[in-house]
Amino acid sequence: MNHLELPGPSPYGNQLRPEAVRDACRELGISDPVRIEWFPLEVPPGIAGDHRGVRDDDVGSYHVIRLSVWDNPETVSGTLWHELEHARQNEAIGYGTYNRAYTFGNEIAGYDDNPFERQARECEQLHQGAALTNGSKFDPTVPDAAWKSMRDLIAKGEV
Ligand SMILES: [Zn+2]
Repeated sequence: MNHLELPGPSPYGNQLRPEAVRDACRELGISDPVRIEWFPLEVPPGIAGDHRGVRDDDVGSYHVIRLSVWDNPETVSGTLWHELEHARQNEAIGYGTYNRAYTFGNEIAGYDDNPFERQARECEQLHQGAALTNGSKFDPTVPDAAWKSMRDLIAKGEV
């Protein structure tokens, strides 16, 4: 069983389901620790998530996955499956090799057709019904309003 570190609810009430995330790691065979965080509010809508494999000589290897605070629970769940698949790929091929192979994939095929991205999208689609989030407290009007006021500030040159 890998170690999991999950964030509390997002500023807009999105929540991860610890048991579901644990099951997802088990299903994908992820064995290194996984730390999941919300992106800071400054990261705008459109950047759904990212994964970083960290090699640390003292504490060992682990994954850091960051998720958008702007997306609805269903989207965040899909993104998390996508990023967990990148974590699985990382462990399967080795952390250092993964970074080089991923970069190479972008160079020869472009981002969308990078084999690692295709695989991650497949994983996301395969698990569409398997919710890693609990959306009961999510209020979609709040992020919409927040983003609108941020756009207004940007338009006025105040950000
Ligand atoms: Zn990806």
